[in-house]
Amino acid sequence: MSDDVLSVIPTDPHWQPEPAAAECAASLVEDLAPGLPDGVDVEIDVTWHDVLTIVDCGQNLQKIGCLQCGASIDTEWWADLLEAHCDDGFATLAVVVPCCGAATSLDALEYDWPCGFARFEIAIWISSRGNRGGGNA
Ligand SMILES: [Zn+2]
Repeated sequence: MSDDVLSVIPTDPHWQPEPAAAECAASLVEDLAPGLPDGVDVEIDVTWHDVLTIVDCGQNLQKIGCLQCGASIDTEWWADLLEAHCDDGFATLAVVVPCCGAATSLDALEYDWPCGFARFEIAIWISSRGNRGGGNA
């Protein structure tokens, strides 16, 4: 009864593909999706974001590590940051971290589970709710 989502994003957070390339990437991702048993649906969502958007892992985020000083950053700080930017996205990833005051970039922090930033995203939704009709009967 659970939905899993696997997100594929570019390594360059600002990069956006041409539509044709995006379609190509999406079908490649579909091919790479693991062989799934009957009753499991896979849906692929391709999204262009106007601004830098967090592709986060939601409640799975347990720890943020600072690569400057090695400290763990309070996830409350992260939650506040997400809330402040949930409507308008991020104009920049530049940030001053609370642990050591270093000026760094949000995508240079260490997230456990992984989080990323992107203006383009391919999301693979895997749901195990059973057949919604169709299939290859
Ligand atoms: Zn630090």
